[in-house]
Amino acid sequence: MATLTEYYRRGLTTNPKILESRFWSRVKIHPSCWEWVAGKHQGYGYIYWIGHHKRATHVSWFLHHGEWPPPDKILCHTCDNPSCVNPKHLFVGTRRENFLDCVAKGRNRGGGTRGDRNPNTKVSSQDVTQLCALYAMRPGTRRERAALWKQLAAIHNVTPNTIQQLASGKRRCRSH
Ligand SMILES: [Zn+2]
Repeated sequence: MATLTEYYRRGLTTNPKILESRFWSRVKIHPSCWEWVAGKHQGYGYIYWIGHHKRATHVSWFLHHGEWPPPDKILCHTCDNPSCVNPKHLFVGTRRENFLDCVAKGRNRGGGTRGDRNPNTKVSSQDVTQLCALYAMRPGTRRERAALWKQLAAIHNVTPNTIQQLASGKRRCRSH
């Protein structure tokens, strides 16, 4: 935990002690995850500070590292628990990394559709939903997208073509 003098050295004008005490009064510490027990939006905790609603995960990061996460990056959870603010469960990633992380983890999650019950299915219906969302976003250039399909194909142990077909809705989960 960074000390108060360290915060001031980093040029902070507003007393971070207030932020710190607000943070701790809203956290319930469990052996693994630290649960945010105050205001939440879509599962993520928020805290009001100097005119802004700040993400509780960002405040946790700030209090433990002495600086805010890079503005162009997002904080991802290793524990997949959006309300968790344990700094040990947070890592800085890009939106795409977060997406890939979700897809990689989602592969082991059971779903309720026929495709998921088929032991030969390598891509769950939940993954397909995420793939479709990604496809609709059309991230990056054509070449970057090709690299992404390749990466996802490696994660799921299928061909890039299969991934692309699943993502574009040309192929269904259970036919796989
Ligand atoms: Zn956690």
